[in-house]
Amino acid sequence: MQTEQNQEDVTSSTIVPSRVFPVVCAAIAIGVFILDTITTAEVVVAILYVGVVLLAARFLPKRGIILASLGCLALLVLSYFLSQYGEPPGAALPNLLLSVAVIGMTAFLAVQNQSREMVLREQAGLLNLTHDTIFVRDMTDIILYWNRGAEELYGWRKTEAVGKMSHQLMRTIFPMPLEEIRAELLRIGRWEGELVHTRKNGTQATVASRWAVQQDTRGRAIAILETNNDITERKRAEEALRESETRYRNIFETAGVSIWEEDFSQVKATIDELKAQGVRDFRAYFAAHPEFVLHAIPMVKIVDVNDATVKLLAARSKGELVGSLRAIFTPDALDVFAGELLAVAEERSSFAAETTIQTLKGETLSVLFTIMFPQSTKLESVLVTIVDITERKRAAEALRDTQMELAHVNRVTTMGQMTASIAHEVNQPIAAAGTNAAAALRWLGAQPPDLEEVRQALARIIENAGRASDVIGRIRALIKRGPPRRDRFDLNEAILDVMAMTRSEVLKYGVSPQIKLATGPLSVEGDRVQLQQVILNLVLNAVEAMSAVDEGPRELRISTETDAAAGGVLVSVHDSGQGLDPNSVDRLFEAFYTTKSDGLGMGLAICRSIIEAHGGRLWGSANESRGATFQFTLPPERDEASPAEQADLPPALPVA
Ligand code: ADP
Repeated sequence: MQTEQNQEDVTSSTIVPSRVFPVVCAAIAIGVFILDTITTAEVVVAILYVGVVLLAARFLPKRGIILASLGCLALLVLSYFLSQYGEPPGAALPNLLLSVAVIGMTAFLAVQNQSREMVLREQAGLLNLTHDTIFVRDMTDIILYWNRGAEELYGWRKTEAVGKMSHQLMRTIFPMPLEEIRAELLRIGRWEGELVHTRKNGTQATVASRWAVQQDTRGRAIAILETNNDITERKRAEEALRESETRYRNIFETAGVSIWEEDFSQVKATIDELKAQGVRDFRAYFAAHPEFVLHAIPMVKIVDVNDATVKLLAARSKGELVGSLRAIFTPDALDVFAGELLAVAEERSSFAAETTIQTLKGETLSVLFTIMFPQSTKLESVLVTIVDITERKRAAEALRDTQMELAHVNRVTTMGQMTASIAHEVNQPIAAAGTNAAAALRWLGAQPPDLEEVRQALARIIENAGRASDVIGRIRALIKRGPPRRDRFDLNEAILDVMAMTRSEVLKYGVSPQIKLATGPLSVEGDRVQLQQVILNLVLNAVEAMSAVDEGPRELRISTETDAAAGGVLVSVHDSGQGLDPNSVDRLFEAFYTTKSDGLGMGLAICRSIIEAHGGRLWGSANESRGATFQFTLPPERDEASPAEQADLPPALPVA
């Protein structure tokens, strides 16, 4: 489009399109012809044909000029013959020859001039094709030429700009004094730099400007060609980038948390190579090639650290930390590092885990480690933030110890409440053993001694002793103190154990327990003793609630089932006791909330923390008819956790 327009420009400025010129030309030619024919040979009228040729050159192309000239010559010769017909040759012939020569020369020069002009115009037209802004100014800065690019950038048309003083028109702001620029320009013939110009609409444009001096044949500077590229947007983007870099550096330096920059490019390149070799499942690959993880450690380099990192890692300066990760790496961190590599391989945007690192003084710190991967394929440097959670971990551990202690005290207290029943439970088999021993003695004393009866009595003694030892074993297991465990066990069996232990206590209050367990073993993962403690608390609360009401049957239903919705286990303890006050249902699980005169109010609070630490939920609700139901869920068993995921496992008891 623009090309066509330029082409048009070139031709239109070369040949003036007017209908008047041909008519004028023809009229002059005829006029000259008549004059030439009628005047005497002494007057060289024919020379006026030159005017016709020159005029033709204004509107005709090269071939047209030649034809017009030939036409003039033909008229000239014709008029010669007409006027000289029958006359002896005199001065007319030299005049004719002179006129022919003058017209021919004029035609030749006009054609040549038009060709040169055409070349110049074409060159000027080419300058219009470029997107660059080009203008020419003389040595006093008066604009001589103004291309289309200049019109577009600055808004002034060629006609408005030509003849104006360039620096005044554009209110140029120079990067250095103009005199210095001029001096350099004159010395070496060119100058380059950035200028700020004001456009016609008043807005500013920053341009990369190149000036070149044009010299005449004698080497004198006659004009300056100025080529400008609009770099306003680029400057703005650079400025924005610089600003955000400064802001980023400020955050980096002043952040209260430790931040460092790691170079991950080598690791990324190695992982890309593995991908090219067809490795897809990197989790499996790292498990099968633990040496890869080890080899990758020195590939990661710390590029920069902030002041908080220097302080945290007990370094004297940043320089001490820049470089290999090895100085701060602990064996614990290996699994987390493997997780980090996996995150890179799987092109995740971030990765977070808890791990330990060591300070340069050798002290081990528990840290929360977060790494942000940029969303670019190059992955040159990544940002790592480290939050020291050593104190928090210590506090959590102390809290967990206290909670364990509390849970233990609760178990012992609960068992203490059941001493009479437990004593009865232990007493029964011991008494039975005594009775059987007496019977055995009697059968031995008989004449003849009945050895078969003695054998049977002894077998019963062994059985009773076994029962007594079982009861004691269960009690010991429940009141022993130990760290929380995460085992797989059959929950149904654990519940039956608790029910065996509470049998006497339950019967003492005239309660008839119904146990409806899910068929087959119900495998769960967790701490068996803690979960038994929950069942024990719920059962004893139910018995107490029922002992408070005199009417109606005392029903205790304990059931287990697989939780259809969540895929885990659902345990329910249902009673027909005094029920729950809807207004205080939420408060039951608060520590020290009790409605009993001798209650401590810790049972349900501890039960909930145990269940939640196992990833489950515990709640109570009033029954429609009477009594209350307490239920808890446990999540489905998990698969073997990967090393990185293990870091996310909740503590056995939650940190409140
Ligand atoms: P404590 O038994 O020492 O009071 P708990 O935390 O075990 O402490 O129970 C808190 C309160 O919840 C009890 O005092 C009682 O009011 C209520 N509660 C617990 N279980 C039942 C139940 N099965 N029926 C009715 N109320 C109950």
